[in-house]
Order: sequence, then structure tokens, then C-alpha cells
Amino acid sequence: MDKQKKFLLEEKDLPKQWYNIQADMPNPMLPPLHPATKQPVGPEDLAPLFPMELIKQEVSKERWIDIPEEVLDVYKSWRSTPLVRATGLEKLLDTPAKIYFKNEGVSPAGSHKPNTAVAQAYYNMKEGVKKITTETGAGQWGSALAFATQKFGIDLEVFMVKISFDQKPYRKLMMNTWGAKVHPSPTNLTESGRKALEEDPNSPGSLGIAISEAVEVAATHDDTKYSLGSVLNHVLLHQSIIGLEAIKQMEMAGDFPDIVIAPLGGGSNFAGISFPFLPYKINEGKDIRFIAVEPASCPKLTKGEFRYDFGDSVGMTPLIPMYTLGHNFVPAPIHAGGLRYHGASALASQLLKDGLIEAVALQQLECFDAGVKFANAEGIIPAPESTHGIAAVIREANKAKEEGVAKTILFNLSGHGHFDMAAYQDYFDGKLKDHHFTDAELHVGLDKLDTPTID
Ligand SMILES: *Cc1c(COP(=O)(O)O)cnc(C)c1O
Repeated sequence: MDKQKKFLLEEKDLPKQWYNIQADMPNPMLPPLHPATKQPVGPEDLAPLFPMELIKQEVSKERWIDIPEEVLDVYKSWRSTPLVRATGLEKLLDTPAKIYFKNEGVSPAGSHKPNTAVAQAYYNMKEGVKKITTETGAGQWGSALAFATQKFGIDLEVFMVKISFDQKPYRKLMMNTWGAKVHPSPTNLTESGRKALEEDPNSPGSLGIAISEAVEVAATHDDTKYSLGSVLNHVLLHQSIIGLEAIKQMEMAGDFPDIVIAPLGGGSNFAGISFPFLPYKINEGKDIRFIAVEPASCPKLTKGEFRYDFGDSVGMTPLIPMYTLGHNFVPAPIHAGGLRYHGASALASQLLKDGLIEAVALQQLECFDAGVKFANAEGIIPAPESTHGIAAVIREANKAKEEGVAKTILFNLSGHGHFDMAAYQDYFDGKLKDHHFTDAELHVGLDKLDTPTID
């Protein structure tokens, strides 16, 4: 009989708790610092922006945190996500490696992002919040949060980078369909927006400006909070549902990964698939490799510096201990918008510093080539972000072939690419170029940085 291809969990077997890596790290992450005083931030500093339960999760050292019943109920509408044996890709590559992927593209918004959006909307609702603000670039995060806030009766106001608002109308319309109000940022609704418009009335906007607008609205309205879709510890915690399901599903498949791979923008889907497997390495000494894949044009993990830096380009957030290219760094334009972030989450950064995970930076032509191979072999068109993971999988599968070893590889398919077909068009038309990151680029971002360094 043919090998089983797809593994799903029954509803009763869904994980009931999230996993918190902070309980198992050999070296804890350094504390985030207040941008003005440079002292560790306390809960009261974050309270204007986030509900208290999320602030508690941000600093929690508890290994297991209960998933509320109401959140589980929403998760059940698409979870578990399938664990799939990529037999088509194995055959195409003629590799002895066994390749599995977790398909997060089956969620309502088409990526892993609803895993945290639903949890964040729930805790805000519980604490009486009426409205949430956020920023979005191309719209992956905004659409996930629109789906989630609608479930819990919260209003959502999204500041969407103007150039994306104009050029990528479909994710904006998804947000509208789920009841969110979407503004092209910069707007004249906020101080930060008005200032940006004064400087350039035709400003195309930027994620930095959009963040400032969303934070400003939340900080100046009592019934309004702000929400972030990556980087922060509580976001990574919620994403652990991916890896916790995968552990059970790999068991159903009778396998265990030697290598775990995911693309990394801020670090949330990489953390989601890999952190639940880390205790096997840290506590049991199992030989598992964890590979975070970043774009060559934004190589914070492989070329950046481990130091304190702001999470946003304006310098409003706490200072976070992380690998960074500098908060003013503007990467060359590539189509994997979700990977163009200057830093990486503090938890993933500390684990990289301690040698428990690895990182690799790949060029976008290799990634799109991998995405097209995958689409043909498995029938699923991956998001440009996800193609970075697939390209790394292909490298490892080819290495396994050269060495003649039957490695088991698990990767996270973070999302589908149905709204990114214009990127595929540019690739087919030969318009995409690789970008060779230079020392000069590195110096532009880091030399002027006056945030605290770490020994
Ligand atoms: C946002 C996004 C990413 C990158 O974000 P992380 O927080 O690093 O996971 C990757 N893939 C998809 C499909 C995304 O939407």
C-alpha cells in the first residue's frame, strides 16, 4: 500500500496549551529597555498599548499556558492544519530524504497569522477593549486580525502603507469584508501622519509611519489598544500551536525530524514550528537542526549585530535585544514583503546567539524557482515568504542525496500565494533580480545606531 500522505488531528486531540520556550532556554533573553530611561520596561509601561493578560504572557516563564476555550473554538474551524508528506517533491528531487510540511495556508486569511490574531482579539475583548489599531504592509497581518476581531465583536482600524493600499487592493477588500476600516497611511488623522504629509504630500508611506499612526491612536484613546503580528514573545507563544500539532502528527506518521526549517521575518512562524521541538535538543540531547531562512537582501541573522534596537523605524517601541540591521535600514525591494523587517524576535535572537538554531540567507531567484517546483510537485502555490523555506529544504534534500542519508526534514508552509501572483508574474517575466548585500549597506544601518550594545 502507498504511504499515507496527509495527517490531521481529531478535534479532541488538539493541543489545549501553548508552549513557552522561556521555560527551557539555557540563557534567558535580556530584558527589553525603556527607550527614554534605558531601564527594563515594566508592565505599567506597556499597559496603554496591550491588555494585561498579553503583558503577563510576554514575561511569563511558565512552560505551559492554557488556551482559552473560546480561542480553541475558533481554532477548530481550520485546525489542525494538515501535516503533509511531500512525496511529489521527494520524487522530483530524487532524494532519499523524507520531506514533510505543515500547511498553515489553509487558515481563513491564508497564513499562520490568525493563530495569534485570534488569541489577541480574545484577550482584548475579555478586558473590555472596544477597538484595536494596527499597521499592515501588503495586508497579511491586517486581514488575519480583521478575521479575528470580527469574531469577538471588536472594531479594527488598520493603517495600511499607502503604496500597498493603492497597488494591492484585494487584501484591503478582505479586511473590509471582515468589517475593518482601512486607511492609506500616512493619514491626516494623527500627528505622525500629518507630519509625514507635511514633509511629503505624496508620501508612499512606510511600515514605520503606519506603526507610529496605529500606536498613537491606541495611546491616546482609553478604549483602544494596539496589536502586533510578529516579534513579541506572546505572538511567538501563540504560534507554538503549529509545532505542538506537528509533534503529534509526526508521531502518527511514525517519523521525527532531523531538520526543521521555516522562513523568518520577525520570527513568529519559525518559532511556531521549531520551539516545541527544542526541548528534545536542549533537555534530551537529540541531534536536531533548526534553520531560519531570511532573504539575502535583509540578512539580519547572518550579517546583523546582536544589540539593543527599536522594533519600529521611528523609535517609539521599547529597546529589544536582537539581531538587527539597524531600525533605519531599508532593504532593497523584494517580493517577500513579510521578510523585509530589520530585526528578529528577541527569543529567536538569543537562541541563535547560543548556537541552538542556525540561519541562512537566500537569493530571491533561487526561492521563486523553488516555489514553482513546489507548486508543480505538490499543487500548492506558496507565498513568496514561504518559498524561502522551500529553497532551504531543497538544498538540504540535495545534500542528503549527495551524502546518501535518509534525513527527515520538516518545514512550515507559512502561507499560500494566491494574492501574490503579480510577484510570480515578475519572476516569469525575468524582472526579478538577486541582490548582493554589501558592507556599505551594513554600515549605513549600524554605524549611526546609538542604542545600547551587548557584550
Ligand atoms: C508575515 C509572514 C511571514 C513572516 O513573519 P514571521 O513573523 O517571521 O513568521 C512569513 N510568511 C507569511 C506567509 C507571512 O504572512
